[in-house]
Amino acid sequence: MNITIICIGNELLSGKTINTNATWLGKKINSIGHYVHKRIVIPDDTSIIKNTLSGLMMNKEIDGCFIITGGLGPTHDDVTRKSIFEFFGSEEKFDIKYWEDLNNRFKQNNIAIPLSNKGQALIPDNGDVIDNPIGSARGYKFNKGRITTFSLPGVPSEMKAMTKASIIPWLKQKSEKKIHEMTIRTTGIPESILMDEISSVLKDNQECKIGFYPSLFGVDIQLSSKLKTRTTELAKNISNILGHNIFGYNKDSMEKIVVKMAMKKKLTFSFAESCTGGLLGHRITEVPGSSDIFKGGAVVYSDDAKISVLGVDKRCIKKYGAVSKETAKIMAEKVRVIFKSDYGVSVTGIAGPGGGTKKKPVGLVYVAFANNKGTKVKKFNFFHERKKNKLRTGQVVLNLMRLEMMNV
Ligand code: ATP
Repeated sequence: MNITIICIGNELLSGKTINTNATWLGKKINSIGHYVHKRIVIPDDTSIIKNTLSGLMMNKEIDGCFIITGGLGPTHDDVTRKSIFEFFGSEEKFDIKYWEDLNNRFKQNNIAIPLSNKGQALIPDNGDVIDNPIGSARGYKFNKGRITTFSLPGVPSEMKAMTKASIIPWLKQKSEKKIHEMTIRTTGIPESILMDEISSVLKDNQECKIGFYPSLFGVDIQLSSKLKTRTTELAKNISNILGHNIFGYNKDSMEKIVVKMAMKKKLTFSFAESCTGGLLGHRITEVPGSSDIFKGGAVVYSDDAKISVLGVDKRCIKKYGAVSKETAKIMAEKVRVIFKSDYGVSVTGIAGPGGGTKKKPVGLVYVAFANNKGTKVKKFNFFHERKKNKLRTGQVVLNLMRLEMMNV
């Protein structure tokens, strides 16, 4: 079934509130085998709400259902109830029992109920009421022609609770088959190259939908099909081609994979971080149980810290610079000894926006790995933006840890 999501709220248009309701609804709807055909954001404005609904109703290509969120509260700017009652030609009835319930709820909290809440006790004579298990604004359901319309409050926790209790069961009855989804998480391979490499297996594929989602961290490949065998088969073919560029599946994170591998191989790590400012330590310690593999880290941002905390020879920094393969090498070796870990990992780079030169531009990063066999240093040239450089460096270093452990 095609579903249209209509989010109502001035704050969504001004950018003050991020439209998390639509994102959440989209994922939920997809997971039970339906598709979001359209997502619309409109202001708290009666005529725009009514015109939007009539425009959609007149479009013969649109069927299924509308899910409206927002604007059902008691304040003067909440006009959704009035608008949809007018649109569906409803006569308002006052639900005295609900009004008494609301009064009691407020009394229990020693609050006098504002009269503006009275609107929440109004119900339509030609639609159903959807209970709100955690709030006061109830929702509504209308059937008109080929379309069923649901109207829910905008508060995300209330919208979610009501969708789960009332809309999902209704949608499940209408879904022909469950959709099977799988996400293949890749890193270290640009989207265009990745697509070229797997183009042969994509060509033969018909019953599986494929989406590519690139980010600073890598490219996620999303597969979905009504046939489970098709998603698993296609995932297997893609995995055979992309090999170690795949770091995980579905909800796997890079840090989770790294900690799991290090635990399995009984390896410990320590970090000497300059341009990442502690990001590596942060990401690893997000994973429960990481204390088994992470001995500790030092954020050695200044030259002084590199010298006094790690014991890097100041002549090395003077001769080669703080951002150099020589300094990165010593940082990794020193931190490994200080924390008595199997691996010492260091990062030093020029995050930007300032500090770059022709020889050492912004985005230049050295990463070193020291263990009892020796030290390897890798050089990277990333971006011109500070934040991007930090995030990409964090991901690249964790990925190098993963690749290193594959060979141990
Ligand atoms: P109430 O007024 O009783 O709180 P309501 O149905 O009138 O409920 P709104 O006033 O539209 O809801 O929004 C209530 C809260 O929910 C606000 O903080 C708003 O920013 C947030 N909200 C509304 N719509 C969305 C949305 N699409 N995504 C995320 N948050 C939203």
